[in-house]
Amino acid sequence: MKKHNFSSGPAILPQSVMEEAAKAVVDWNGIGLSVLEMSHRSKEFTAVMEEAQQLTKELLHIGDDYCVLFLTGGASSQFYMTAMNFLEQNETACYIDTGNWSAKAIHEGKIFGNIEVIASSKDRNYVYIPKEFTLPSHAKYLHITTNNTVQGTQFHHIPNVDVPIVADMSSDIFSRPIDIKKYGLIYAGAQKNMGPAGTTMVIVRKDLVGKLSRQIPTMLDYATHIKKGSMFNTPPVFPVFVSMLTLRWLKAQGGVEAMEQINIAKAKMLYDEIDRNSCFRGRVDEADRSLMNVTFFAETPELEKAFYEICEAEHISQIKGYRTIGGFRASIYNAMPTSSVEHLVQVMKRFEEQA
Ligand SMILES: *Cc1c(COP(=O)(O)O)cnc(C)c1O
Repeated sequence: MKKHNFSSGPAILPQSVMEEAAKAVVDWNGIGLSVLEMSHRSKEFTAVMEEAQQLTKELLHIGDDYCVLFLTGGASSQFYMTAMNFLEQNETACYIDTGNWSAKAIHEGKIFGNIEVIASSKDRNYVYIPKEFTLPSHAKYLHITTNNTVQGTQFHHIPNVDVPIVADMSSDIFSRPIDIKKYGLIYAGAQKNMGPAGTTMVIVRKDLVGKLSRQIPTMLDYATHIKKGSMFNTPPVFPVFVSMLTLRWLKAQGGVEAMEQINIAKAKMLYDEIDRNSCFRGRVDEADRSLMNVTFFAETPELEKAFYEICEAEHISQIKGYRTIGGFRASIYNAMPTSSVEHLVQVMKRFEEQA
């Protein structure tokens, strides 16, 4: 039987998308070929790439001053590609440090320019989103991680600043509307909220690219991929195909506006139970709780162990917290059905009654 999948990534995808993708692996639309064995230059695949880009723009209300790319190398490659493409060695970018992934972006950025960390929540183990900071006038861009997959925090207000924001949206892209004007570049690994592992979406404001004196290897230069419509070399055809199917599904659900309402309701259901249930407590500050990754602890190690066992028996899969944090992390991305969250809440209630 299908399990209730709370994995943080690679994560749950809509069941209908997986069924359609599975069929296309064997015979794509009855053309007698698999989607895996066709030229990326074929008219069939070119149409997939164009639809994926077009759906992204439509769903997020993005105009033609931005370009949508499907790259490889994971979100982790964007940690350095952003700085490499936007920052001269003597220029400064500012970063808000809200967790493991921001810290990695900071580390990589430092290779290519001056990185100033203007706010950090490391002092309290990243259980909140810092809200007070001053952006120095010499900042070229501000980097933020909109949703902190490991810690379970999320920016619910995107800062208003005078420079473009570069945002790692790996774990909350397409979960809510965005105000594209604020952003110079958005990147997101597909495997959290959009598709299978293997491609990274980059949405980049075209006028910011190609301005540096630094020589950039062709494959790492956004200008290359913009010029070639994300088809400079062989793109990751299958991850792009499945992401496109997921975006079609998302549009059919009513787009990111409708999805946000569903996500708010799902998260509220789970947080309400964590707050009510005497066996559990939430990990992060209430105001900054993530709608995507719900992190919580059991009140004692015994309860923690017992609850893992019950989850296993109840077909609740991959709910263990990140290895350095422990406890539980229920990732409830777009594709997570409300019924699975209800199931988890029921199991928590029964657990309390029996404890
Ligand atoms: C998973 C994740 C990454 C790393 O993605 P890779 O594709 O594995 O490189 C980066 N940032 C955030 C916020 C993530 O959740």
